[in-house]
Amino acid sequence: CGIVGYVGGRPALSIVLDGLRRLEYRGYDSAGVAVVEGGTVLTEKKAGKLANLEKALAEAADPGIAAGRTAIGHTRWATHGGPTDRNAHPHLSADGRVAVIHNGIIENFSRLRAELEASGIEFTSDTDTECAAHLLAAEMRALRETGAADGPELLAEGMRRTVRRLEGAFTLLAIDVEVPDAVVAARRNSPLVVGRGDGENFLASDVSAFIEHTREAIELGQDQVVLITPAGIEITGFDGTPQEGKEFHIDWDASA
Ligand code: GLU
Repeated sequence: CGIVGYVGGRPALSIVLDGLRRLEYRGYDSAGVAVVEGGTVLTEKKAGKLANLEKALAEAADPGIAAGRTAIGHTRWATHGGPTDRNAHPHLSADGRVAVIHNGIIENFSRLRAELEASGIEFTSDTDTECAAHLLAAEMRALRETGAADGPELLAEGMRRTVRRLEGAFTLLAIDVEVPDAVVAARRNSPLVVGRGDGENFLASDVSAFIEHTREAIELGQDQVVLITPAGIEITGFDGTPQEGKEFHIDWDASA
């Protein structure tokens, strides 16, 4: 229901949690975060209010989660699978390298799930979202093996190939352990805005998530993929053609 992503020079977890708090008014049943740190993707997710997630984070064994500079965060309004810890987002690929969060509904998920299960992948949730994590990991593996892309472009091209296989409405955000300084996102029939910072960039379902950090925003168009790194924002269509979003300045009073 609420989506936040951050990449930059500051510890990402607290920025993402603050963003999720600002999106709480939308209502949700669970919350979770994923952070890239020290060569792994660290996640925490809990059914219930953000306070449950924060409690779990405070008790989490790995202090690295508070230090990483790249993170995604999600508040869920369950559509497929009950509001449980294991159905909360992020969802990980089977190898734990990719983490995905999602707003919306992937209409063709049962066909995709059957195909992925036939290839030997075991699902760990009842969500429509999880298939996107496995698909993205598979696409990135294929790109890596053929040498077709590397670095942040691997994540962007992997996402484009993934969303071309999805039907329905989605805002998807993903991170990958191999691309520690990037967050990729895609949107179709679901909102997504980019916040342009100085040496840092933001993604969110709603500008209120990052308004205390920047007022320079870009509204994504339909069927676009955006890759953010600390230094850049790259927007393409699902087919890879360079595109532009709609730049705007947020001039309303955030404290109002
Ligand atoms: N369909 C997804 C799920 O049920 C995402 C729901 C949402 O938009 O929060 O997990």
